[in-house]
Amino acid sequence: MDTMVDKSPASLLQEYKRAMQRCAKTVAVIAVGEKGSRHGFTATSYCSLSLSPPTIMICVDRQTRAYAGIVGNRRFSMNYLRPGDDFIADTFAGKARTHGEERFDDALWEQSSLSVPVLRESAASLICRVEEIIERVSHSVFIAEIIEVYLGSTRASLVYANGGYKPLSCD
Ligand SMILES: Cc1cc2nc3c(=O)[nH]c(=O)nc-3n(C[C@H](O)[C@H](O)[C@H](O)COP(=O)(O)OP(=O)(O)OC[C@H]3O[C@@H](n4cnc5c(N)ncnc54)[C@H](O)[C@@H]3O)c2cc1C
Repeated sequence: MDTMVDKSPASLLQEYKRAMQRCAKTVAVIAVGEKGSRHGFTATSYCSLSLSPPTIMICVDRQTRAYAGIVGNRRFSMNYLRPGDDFIADTFAGKARTHGEERFDDALWEQSSLSVPVLRESAASLICRVEEIIERVSHSVFIAEIIEVYLGSTRASLVYANGGYKPLSCD
């Protein structure tokens, strides 16, 4: 196996990207805001931190338009995508060069009772309350407690691996 010893920063970055392409990740859209001023982005940099209390952590680029909304509202939703939701993932990753409200036109979104956008046909959606923000280089890590859970009708997931979206059946 090739080692990382004495690599230049550029080649280390390339190797890191290639290594990450081998780590399949479930795809979510993180959304925030009231109807009329919503923001959202496609995300894979997140994980469950603890079950009791139910807590997750997400990594958000501070250049992302949703960033200020998450800091200001201290609430956001995580919407886990289903197989076939590639178009939603592309939209919220900025592929169509749309921003803010425009990104919510392609699918059915509702406002939760806690004033957070929720994707109606997600595999699952979590409503999260920010507990702590840790700033590191370009990103901020948000540690957030789950305050509401919506379960969709499918157990299947949309996974990002090797630079593309793949369906994952969980049956
Ligand atoms: C599979 C996948 C996983 C991803 N995972 C993550 C993740 O975990 N965390 C994460 O942070 N990102 C992640 N991204 C990237 C993220 O989905 C995109 O960058 C997304 O487009 C960000 O939303 P945005 O509204 O800021 O988009 P964009 O409009 O594409 O914004 C990006 C750029 O616009 C500029 N900008 C920001 N605000 C304004 C403004 N008000 N006016 C003018 N310009 C502005 C900034 O320069 C910023 O870099 C992921 C992308 C993919 C494809």
